Amino acid sequence: MTLPRIRVRFAPSPTGKLHVGNARTALLNWLFARHCGGVFVLRIEDTDRIRTTEAFEENLLEDLKWLGIDWDEGPGAGGAYGPYRQTGRLELYGDCLRRLIADGKVYPCYCIEEELEAERADLVSRRMMPRYLGKCRKLAEGERRRFENEGRLPAWRFRVEEGPIVFDDLIRGSMAFQGEAIGDFIICRSNGIPAYNFAAVVDDHCMEISHVIRGEDHLSNTAMQVLLYRALGFAPPEFAHHSLILGKDHAKLSKRHGAVSVREFRRRGILPEALRNYLALLGSSVEGGREVCSAEELVEGLSLARTGKGGAVFDEEKLFWFNGAHIRRHDPQSLADLLAPFISMAGYDEASFRRERIEAIAATVRDNLTTLADIGGFLELFDDDRYRIDEEAAALLREEEAKTVLLALRKELIRLAEAGENAVGTAPDAASSPFCRGIAGWIRNNETGLKGKKLYLPIRAAVTGHLHGPELDRIFALLGPASLLRRVEKALALS
Ligand code: GLU
Repeated sequence: MTLPRIRVRFAPSPTGKLHVGNARTALLNWLFARHCGGVFVLRIEDTDRIRTTEAFEENLLEDLKWLGIDWDEGPGAGGAYGPYRQTGRLELYGDCLRRLIADGKVYPCYCIEEELEAERADLVSRRMMPRYLGKCRKLAEGERRRFENEGRLPAWRFRVEEGPIVFDDLIRGSMAFQGEAIGDFIICRSNGIPAYNFAAVVDDHCMEISHVIRGEDHLSNTAMQVLLYRALGFAPPEFAHHSLILGKDHAKLSKRHGAVSVREFRRRGILPEALRNYLALLGSSVEGGREVCSAEELVEGLSLARTGKGGAVFDEEKLFWFNGAHIRRHDPQSLADLLAPFISMAGYDEASFRRERIEAIAATVRDNLTTLADIGGFLELFDDDRYRIDEEAAALLREEEAKTVLLALRKELIRLAEAGENAVGTAPDAASSPFCRGIAGWIRNNETGLKGKKLYLPIRAAVTGHLHGPELDRIFALLGPASLLRRVEKALALS
């Protein structure tokens, strides 16, 4: 016997920017498909014609690609189960609706929005579950005809019988809902557009989806979907509802917590591999003690069974930590590519930098970057026009001992220049040039008699304008003798 193929799907509605919560759903599906050697389908749920836009869809596809989530079937990839946009599948939903009508599983509902709203408000005021109480379920034929004659177009409601609706969830175990708490729900609106629950069931069945992995906010939808599977005679897929991402206050992560869209994190200089790594580990869906993981390691370690039931708190600090760790995995060449757009965004003319200089800067600041956008602050350091001595550094530079160090350093810089040892390249290994070796030698063995912080801090303060930052020898290489001498003079001139 051949086992059924693993087929999963991510089914976003392009009505806004891709939220990290949805990105995590996409990622878990993708990891699961790749882990099992299955198929990952991208289906666009575009039935909300008012809020869906082409631009949102384009951004969504781009964000998924940026995250390294590729789809085997879906827009742009083709596949044997298309179309992959719900608006292209209306006929299919129509066929299934006609079957349900013929079987008496649904009935036409002529209630208008105002009536439904009044019913909901009344139930809420009586502290009861808002649901449809079934007015049109009992309509006599004559009443129906009267509504039709008035020109009212019906929506179609599914008859929900009283009693438990039970299904198994791979993460949560056995789940039970009560039919009477759900009420008869709409599966097709009066304009002929299917409701989410109906379209999702038809599509998941027709696309032979084996596992539906989505957020726990869909659990009650799943109860309704289980009823639809039964009514249509379809075998339901396996379900796995993962927890939602929460803010620090344990409320569902939303804009008021700060950045929540993939776009925003990307704009802030988060690397796709860091966001992927962080989202995959959130809620511990991946086995193994390793924290900083490649995509392959995440695929290998994925375990739905381990995915936590409790909400996963989004910790931006932790994401930034992952980002720094992933930045350090890049060599100066690839880091330079990643930094280029952020150099422009920081207000520099990226084209005015020589390629080797960007690589040398990348090598120098790599350990100090938390995000790619941090590069703006570091570039100031290497730009004589923008470099500034901050308050802390200025206070230190006014001390007598600091002046002693700087006077001696100035002498050495002049001596090196006179000895002709002022050649520095801009390649990442420039720290080994004669000039840089000369200064390093002087630092190890100099006439001031000062050591450790007393020696390094004044040099750092004068040369970078700050007390913290990248390694000094690389900075010497990047600045070169003339700029160093100018900065030492400037620091000595502080009063
Ligand atoms: N379009 C639905 C959403 O974005 C899909 C939910 C599902 O995975 O079934 O929430």
